[in-house]
Amino acid sequence: MSSQRYFSTRSSAEPHLTFEQAIIQGLAPDGGLYIPTAIPSILEGALEKWSNLSFAELAYEIMSLYISTDEIPSQDLKSLCKKSYSTFRAADVTPITTLQKDSGLYLLELFHGPTYAFKDVALQFVGNLFEYFLQRKNAGKAEDAADRDTITVVGATSGDTGSAAIYGLRNKKDVSVFILYPTGRVSPIQEAQMTTVLDKNVHTISLKGTFDDCQDIVKSIFGDVEFNSKYHVGAVNSINWARILAQITYYYHSYFQLSKNLGSTDFKARFVVPTGNFGDILAGFYAKRMGLPVDGLVIATNANDILDRFVKSGSYSKSETAGAAPVVHATLSPAMDILVSSNFERFLWYLARENLASTNEEAGSILASWMSDLKTKGTFSVPEVVLEAAKREFTSERISDEETAATIKSVYQKITPKYILDPHSAVGVAASLRRIEEDSKAGVQDVKYVSLSTAHPAKFSDAVEDALGQEEGFSFESDVLPQEFKDFSTKEKKNLFVDAADIEKVKAVIIEELAKEKL
Ligand SMILES: *Cc1c(COP(=O)(O)O)cnc(C)c1O
Repeated sequence: MSSQRYFSTRSSAEPHLTFEQAIIQGLAPDGGLYIPTAIPSILEGALEKWSNLSFAELAYEIMSLYISTDEIPSQDLKSLCKKSYSTFRAADVTPITTLQKDSGLYLLELFHGPTYAFKDVALQFVGNLFEYFLQRKNAGKAEDAADRDTITVVGATSGDTGSAAIYGLRNKKDVSVFILYPTGRVSPIQEAQMTTVLDKNVHTISLKGTFDDCQDIVKSIFGDVEFNSKYHVGAVNSINWARILAQITYYYHSYFQLSKNLGSTDFKARFVVPTGNFGDILAGFYAKRMGLPVDGLVIATNANDILDRFVKSGSYSKSETAGAAPVVHATLSPAMDILVSSNFERFLWYLARENLASTNEEAGSILASWMSDLKTKGTFSVPEVVLEAAKREFTSERISDEETAATIKSVYQKITPKYILDPHSAVGVAASLRRIEEDSKAGVQDVKYVSLSTAHPAKFSDAVEDALGQEEGFSFESDVLPQEFKDFSTKEKKNLFVDAADIEKVKAVIIEELAKEKL
């Protein structure tokens, strides 16, 4: 059906890649991100036809528009989807909850996967995809053959993303995963989520240093040509196209759930998304372009507000004030503490292509120059016509830590049965509530807000305890903590320690562990 190929946002001169090449490479050699040659439109009647599909079936329908059957035959893609979403605790995979029926506020719960965070939706699929591609390459080779294709995934985490990658890749054949994290700087729960995974192919490295040290080491490992060619280093970071693709499904799925819930399709669906690297909400943009009736996509940022500033000014700047040094603020929603939003480049490409360029090549060179300015000057500005186009797709709200905490509290107090938000989801709900109030003043009607809930509150105990500790009858232990997390303290753990931010030491550990895996 589909004959999709992929090319880089920074040039289209290179030959168009297959889906597999785009996924395995992750980042294009010119520094750009891979995008599909065309955004497919859903067929006439598809919305109705799809509305009763299960999550996995729906994922298959959507993904098959982006992956050529020459690459992954339908039956194989179907089983990949089925397998990927069978690990979720909720029957609906990503269920929708009514927060306030009167004001039309709904929560899309994306945290029912193995690590209790939204990244599972994509990484469960990516892990199976990696394994699928490798098994195909290795077909017919002996189990212990020296020429088997393998991938060594190396990543750094400040806490939240490492476990989703680990659970996506655990026990996958011919894949090894190494996750670096700064010693003593991830929460005990986050550390336990990673170190209690005992599979032979999973390795966590506690590194004496900061998160930046971990990231720098990972970057250097990627830049190490010799190491790379020997160990086939791979990444599963948020710019990987497969992650965006997998996230498109829940926009459709939640729209169908909401329509059924309301018994009508006569409403304006607005999605509000707690945003960091712009991967989650970008999937909403693709969903809309494909034909989902989306009335609005609202970016909700914390104090790290580069996107909010862009939408309001047309200037994409690392610093909040011209000339000042850029800073990442540590907020209550750490998974959104970013300086620049890596996936925003994909949306910028569409803006350039549709408003300034007449060919893909031209759009690629505009993008390359914007990104080069961002790198050298820390900023670039887009023309008015581009900003206007951006505003037609996205609006934004910036939420302070005070508002985040107050929202966790007010939702807990006002909603029956009691609902406990994690701080990331609270950023989205705070933005939604702000919009609902504005709509009500302006007399806008029939709007339904779907606020994306990206993590289970148990993952961010400090923020939740701070917000709710004083509430009568509240107990983190019994109201929030899942049994699985309570069991961590008695579980066997496995992890490695490197006593300095030293790339050679980390490489030595990786080499040693890879050798042990083969025994
Ligand atoms: C990663 C993450 C986000 C941000 O998602 P992006 O795709 O980076 O915008 C929000 N909340 C949680 C809990 C996350 O882990």
